[in-house]
Amino acid sequence: MRRRWWSLVAASLLVTGVLVPAAPAWAAPTFKVPFPCNQSWSGQTRSDHSPAYAVDFNRTDDLGDPVVASAPGTVDRVTDLGGTSYGKYVRIDHGGGYTTYYAHLNGFNVSVGQSVGYGKVIGWVGSTGGSTGPHLHYEQRLNGDDIKVRFNGTLALYWGTKTYTSGNNCTSGTGSGTVDTAGTPLTVRSGPGTGYSSVGTVADGAKVTIGCQTSGTTVTGTYGTSAIWDRIGSGRFIADAYVYTGHDGYIPNVPRC
Ligand SMILES: [Zn+2]
Repeated sequence: MRRRWWSLVAASLLVTGVLVPAAPAWAAPTFKVPFPCNQSWSGQTRSDHSPAYAVDFNRTDDLGDPVVASAPGTVDRVTDLGGTSYGKYVRIDHGGGYTTYYAHLNGFNVSVGQSVGYGKVIGWVGSTGGSTGPHLHYEQRLNGDDIKVRFNGTLALYWGTKTYTSGNNCTSGTGSGTVDTAGTPLTVRSGPGTGYSSVGTVADGAKVTIGCQTSGTTVTGTYGTSAIWDRIGSGRFIADAYVYTGHDGYIPNVPRC
């Protein structure tokens, strides 16, 4: 019986091996606009562009603005071509043959081999290489070939200029915290600072929901010295120095007010 059992296992393994299907075609990554969440940029396509499907992005005073990864991947080029072509550029490998290019950068914020996620700042808008003014030259490629750019699966405008608003890494949510004053109630202010009027108090030990955070008056409290203020309701702010949030500084994913 034992021998037979083992031979059945071996046979089933063999069959399993034979039946493993070919790897399915890699779905295209969901590419996002290569700028931080909620920023609006003018993207231009033109048939005489090289390569043809690249998008040039601009906005007012864009020199030095952060450029972010349009999808998760691995940085596989951080290259400076000097005064020609792309100048300083980054390439990200997204797997499945998909790559993105970010060219004419002012500087780099990543290195080769680094894993990046949505919203990771990879560099800053510049005018390096064969560029006549600050802009981001952006490409999506498949197996090395320039492809028409898509954001969230939606084709970019070919040909022309359109405003694209970034939905990149927009993971905003609320935070939670616990007030800790070692006894006294914490004053709630109408704005993010001690100069704003008092609009109430929250008790020591109270749980609060933080809708957004901003900087204001620097306060020294239970958790050190901080200029961060937490909005816990409409027109209601408390000093973060007295709130346990589990994070030093700003809470990830909680938006700025
Ligand atoms: Zn370009």
